[in-house]
Amino acid sequence: MLWPAGKFSETSLLLVDQFLVSGSSFRERLMVLYAIMSVIEAVDSVGSLIGRFRRMPSELVRARKSLEKFRGGLCWGLSEFVARMKQADRSYIGRLAPTPTGFMHLGHARTFLAAQRRAEEAGGRLFMRIEDLDMARCKPEFVAALEEDLAWAGLRWEPEVFRQSERLEAFRAAWRKLRDGGFIFPCWCSRKDVAEAARAPHAEGGEAIYPGTCREREWEFASEAEALEVNWRFRVPDGERVGFVDRRLGEQAFVAGRDFGDFLVWRKDGIPSYELAVVADDVAQGVTEVVRGEDLLVSTARQLLIYRALGEVAPAFFHCPLVLDTDGRRLAKRDKAMGLRELRASGVDPARLEEMGRIE
Ligand SMILES: [Zn+2]
Repeated sequence: MLWPAGKFSETSLLLVDQFLVSGSSFRERLMVLYAIMSVIEAVDSVGSLIGRFRRMPSELVRARKSLEKFRGGLCWGLSEFVARMKQADRSYIGRLAPTPTGFMHLGHARTFLAAQRRAEEAGGRLFMRIEDLDMARCKPEFVAALEEDLAWAGLRWEPEVFRQSERLEAFRAAWRKLRDGGFIFPCWCSRKDVAEAARAPHAEGGEAIYPGTCREREWEFASEAEALEVNWRFRVPDGERVGFVDRRLGEQAFVAGRDFGDFLVWRKDGIPSYELAVVADDVAQGVTEVVRGEDLLVSTARQLLIYRALGEVAPAFFHCPLVLDTDGRRLAKRDKAMGLRELRASGVDPARLEEMGRIE
């Protein structure tokens, strides 16, 4: 993997993100590029000096090796910096990604309105993506209803609408890439197995940390079709701190193996997990900023590992506060009172949606 693991690269990436997010000037960026290139040049001079020795004592051989390694790290840093700079400069693309398993409620509208505001402020575009992979629970009538309800709430999106159910081939390609890179492994455990064998108390959000049962198991499949009928999990780098700079909440960090375990990327019913589908789609749609609820912060850490494994640059993230009901619980699709249909029927002015509801 082209990723110099460790604290150094992680810290430098956080710095790069902060630098770019804080609206760095062209001149400042040039200075950073110049600084990295000057160090590479200096390393090269030392390297060629060492190269002049006819017979090299072992200390010099070692020094040369570590110089080469250092140079590799610098070149990687340079390319990463340029890639992120390009990403930061791309015109803004955001997305609304509802799941049509029920009617939209105030919480969805609030998050989507925030996404719309950010896209407008950046002079960018906003796309609709229907996350309808779960064929059993997603219904066409909910798709029609959500478009109607969100339009009532004041949301506008680009005419081209994406549907996850039409992108299975792209998801399989992403799965293949992860498998070939050795990032994922097939898992035969049931949900009950995982809950019972969890090696740690359940992480926040109630999800059990995968105990690693199938991590080292040998596997071979007669065909790809057969392999896709099994659950696949991402092997997380245990103990690694996965950090990012959230555009609303600032610096965030989660420890792989402690805050979240080996997570599902593929489900045995033949569809990708939420994490894989979202990453593959955000890459394909060229999304530059993801605006979504705060409950997905850990999910972002998981997805960053997928971006890295796929060799893609991740978008920026902006996590919104959650809207709660009067009892202080998260709004759910079953809470009728806060449904957009009901709000509309009771004569609520859609211009008031942004200020309604309790915020955590
Ligand atoms: Zn397993």
